[in-house]
Amino acid sequence: MPGSRAGSGPYMAESEIIGALTPAVGSAAVRVGIGDDAAVLADGTLVTVDAMVEGVHFDARLSPADVGWKLVAVNVSDIAAMGGRPTWATLALSLPDPPDRTWVAGFAEGLAAACRNWNVTLVGGDTTRSPIRAASLTLGGAAVRPVLRSTARAGDDLWVTGRLGLAAEALLSPSPTPDALAHLRRPAPRVAFACALADLGVTAMIDLSDGLSDDLSRLCTASGCGAEVDPDAVPGSGPLAWRVAFGEDYELLFTASAADRDALRSVADMYATPLSLIGRLDARPDARMSGMPWPAPLFRHFTQDRG
Ligand code: ADP
Ligand code: MG
Repeated sequence: MPGSRAGSGPYMAESEIIGALTPAVGSAAVRVGIGDDAAVLADGTLVTVDAMVEGVHFDARLSPADVGWKLVAVNVSDIAAMGGRPTWATLALSLPDPPDRTWVAGFAEGLAAACRNWNVTLVGGDTTRSPIRAASLTLGGAAVRPVLRSTARAGDDLWVTGRLGLAAEALLSPSPTPDALAHLRRPAPRVAFACALADLGVTAMIDLSDGLSDDLSRLCTASGCGAEVDPDAVPGSGPLAWRVAFGEDYELLFTASAADRDALRSVADMYATPLSLIGRLDARPDARMSGMPWPAPLFRHFTQDRG
């Protein structure tokens, strides 16, 4: 999170790096800056960016077309988490020299399929040489009433969509199910449902990209409250650590008034979206699980990061 956990040694935590980059200068053109799933400009335009690096985010288990699809999908997930719809994208593509024609053709096909699926127009980009394959997509979107991470209140219900832990199963199980492999290769964030949640007036929302324990902590920190999660209510079939401490779920974690329970369940039925009530927000300072500690994180970008 921006500004937190500043250290003095040579090692920098991810949160410290983001904090160092957080600008001192604000602008009237920006409604929400660093710290949410996407920035919100004054007119409601949403902007987000996510990168995929070979060896970190993908390897031979993903086809080039899967990489193209997933690059769009992971960004769509952040726009959906704001209660918005994606509209345009720019692509920065870095490739070893000489470029591999077959890889580029596959990547382009997957990228185009995802852009068609979510109505995204590619409007520009940049192409460079690099020692490894890497691609970064900036995605723009629009929201009538953006839903932030920072507006949950003590007493709200805590909900999550779908089943968690499928990407963990795909990468960690010796015999992953076809469902898990499909989720790893072609995640499909729930844009229409997220927009329905925004219309319904849910109080806060974040997408699950880094695992429930990290992402819930972010929502709680941003909202200045705590949460208690019932481990038995966390949806999914794998070990608890896969479901809460891995990531790449691309499901929606959101908070809502307890008075909205019936309305939420009927909207979920309408969109055929599995929905689980997993806990409640409270006034304590942290995110907890009832009766046990959080399982240790199964993935970190920087090896010494603790949170
Ligand atoms: P997400 O996983 O939803 O993309 P994170 O929780 O990882 O977002 O990041 C926290 C916030 O920090 C986000 O608002 C993100 O845009 C911002 N951020 C991350 N890296 C950078 C960076 N290199 N420069 C500026 N902002 C950054
Ligand atoms: Mg996000």
